[in-house]
Amino acid sequence: MTEISGSCLCGQVKFSGDVDILAVANCHCDDCRKATGAVYGTLLFAKEKTLTIEGETHSFDHTADSGNTLTKINCAKCGSPMFTSNSSRSGMGIRAGVIDQNDLIQPSRYVYGDRAIATTPIDDTLESFPEMPG
Ligand SMILES: [Zn+2]
Ligand SMILES: [Zn+2]
Repeated sequence: MTEISGSCLCGQVKFSGDVDILAVANCHCDDCRKATGAVYGTLLFAKEKTLTIEGETHSFDHTADSGNTLTKINCAKCGSPMFTSNSSRSGMGIRAGVIDQNDLIQPSRYVYGDRAIATTPIDDTLESFPEMPG
């Protein structure tokens, strides 16, 4: 287990806890681009929802290619994208940009590389998945 903490842009939402990090991924899917406003999203995937989250969040549900319901959880005040969850999994995704421990942001894979926009650098030393691995 790894101890992590973090906060949103305005500081209203704070989180901390011990998480079992399954993977760190750079995701080039269209949804991550829209959800973050950045050209790709970096997520730490935690095995279980073990974080303590304080503050008011806003959730948005949408349907993935897989048919699963994906939930995006943002700060209700400043809108920072913070967490994601998938109806078919017990864990959660934590947006890399909101955690305090920058040394934990070591992507081991990239996903949806074929959807990356042409100018986005792809680290092809990482393991590649055409879609989100199960
Ligand atoms: Zn905020
Ligand atoms: Zn994505």
